[in-house]
Amino acid sequence: MATVLVTGGMGFIGSHTVISLHNNGFDVVIADNLSNSKTEVLNRLETITGKRFKFYKVDCCNKEELRKVFEENDIDSVIHFAGLKAVGESVRMPVEYYSNNINSLLTVVTLMNEFGVKKIVFSSSATVYGESEDVPFTEESPLGTCTNPYGWTKWMLEQVLRDCSVAYPELRVCLLRYFNPVGAHESGLIGEDPRGIPNNLFPYISKVAAGTLEKLTVFGNDYDTPDGTCLRDYIHVCDLADGHVRSLNYLATQSEGVSVFNLGTGKGTSVVEAIKAFEKACGHEIPHVFGPRRAGDIPVCYASTDKAREVLGFEAKRTIEDMCSSCWNWQTKNPQGLPED
Ligand code: NAD
Ligand code: UDP
Repeated sequence: MATVLVTGGMGFIGSHTVISLHNNGFDVVIADNLSNSKTEVLNRLETITGKRFKFYKVDCCNKEELRKVFEENDIDSVIHFAGLKAVGESVRMPVEYYSNNINSLLTVVTLMNEFGVKKIVFSSSATVYGESEDVPFTEESPLGTCTNPYGWTKWMLEQVLRDCSVAYPELRVCLLRYFNPVGAHESGLIGEDPRGIPNNLFPYISKVAAGTLEKLTVFGNDYDTPDGTCLRDYIHVCDLADGHVRSLNYLATQSEGVSVFNLGTGKGTSVVEAIKAFEKACGHEIPHVFGPRRAGDIPVCYASTDKAREVLGFEAKRTIEDMCSSCWNWQTKNPQGLPED
């Protein structure tokens, strides 16, 4: 059974991916410093899968700590989720974002070289396409100018991995550009658990639906879109998790090089449509007002999914209704999020 090191595996996307890996016959080792997640995730994963995953509380920037993980396990491949991801916070704390996101990947790649590990899947983002309005984004769309340090870390780390694949020809890399991951596992045991007031649409709507927050402000309704609000490509986190398993299987068939895939549904959903779908899921109205545009928002962003379908056989199966109902199930079962450590 091949062992996959999942860095950041206690986080939102990582934890769902751990389940998919387990269900597809992979052995999983998790490395996470819990800077944006909680130990309880491990218990929840055990309830869902019946398996207690091997977990190391380590900072991936710390080479000596992380080396232990490579020494003690026969790692076949790495999925690297570990990183900081809040756009607004990255503007206020650029040094922390560049330092954490860049050093963690460099450390992982250094140890992969030392231990002869040849396959890595990297969490990138549609944010690397920048502010272009030329949608849908294909993997060949030019990379844009990012609007915040978080986005630049993804842009730079893609380049780091391209350079590494030239220098270390046996390295096989998958860059996965996620669109907007939302939703939660069907059990309602794990989901997105942001600290404080959420910035992203779905966690915010969930809290308004639950009555924890008073109302949602829709950022702009004067865009050149059918209802004036921005369009995004929301993808269910369990579909996204499946994309990671397919990427690992694909890397096993490659002998070198970098492959890039968009992971999205190929469909744009407006903020108003998302609110309506969530109202259907929770059974009542979501109080909302229309406010000014948010700086840096692009009007329309959705993926071309052709390459992921043709090469990986990947197709997102779950609908926006599935995303909302799973999100609501998670919210109602865990109104305060997961218990603190
Ligand atoms: P998350 O914050 O829930 O998970 C990231 C995990 O990494 C957390 O558990 C955190 O504790 C851990 N971590 C951070 N820095 C670390 C370090 N130095 N060492 C060890 N662990 C560390 O975020 P997520 O939404 O699951 O995102 C996972 C990855 O996907 C991130 O790299 C993120 O940038 C990327 N991504 C996320 C989205 C999104 O909308 N959620 C979109 C595109 C890309
Ligand atoms: N959005 C909104 N109100 C909020 C949060 C988000 O209207 O409180 C909008 C935002 O302007 C964007 C969409 O919802 O058009 C998705 O935002 P999110 O931050 O979740 O993702 P991103 O903009 O990074 O794609």
